[in-house]
Amino acid sequence: MSAASERRAKREMKTVGAMIALYCRGTHGAERGLCADCTDLWSYAQQRVAHCPLLADKPTCVNCPVHCYKPAMREKIRTVMRYSGPRMVWRHPALSVFHFLDGRHKSRARPKP
Ligand SMILES: [Zn+2]
Repeated sequence: MSAASERRAKREMKTVGAMIALYCRGTHGAERGLCADCTDLWSYAQQRVAHCPLLADKPTCVNCPVHCYKPAMREKIRTVMRYSGPRMVWRHPALSVFHFLDGRHKSRARPKP
């Protein structure tokens, strides 16, 4: 892995991690760390990013053509991103490049705060 894609992988992981933490705190009431479900999702996401063959070229997982998440995990991570995406802009402006996993889902119905 080149230095550039390694940096990118780290940033991507940081973003996903922050989103899962935000989601877990907000919806599962975890006060510190993550609940068991979210811990699973988080380690899965880290694996996916670590093994991603396209990290060097793609902007983020949002626009990835591979869709390497298996369906159940993909569904979960989408829920996380729908929840955390809009909130990330305020809490982690530097990481907010990562809005929604599924670019087709341009929802007008915003999630309720
Ligand atoms: Zn959780």
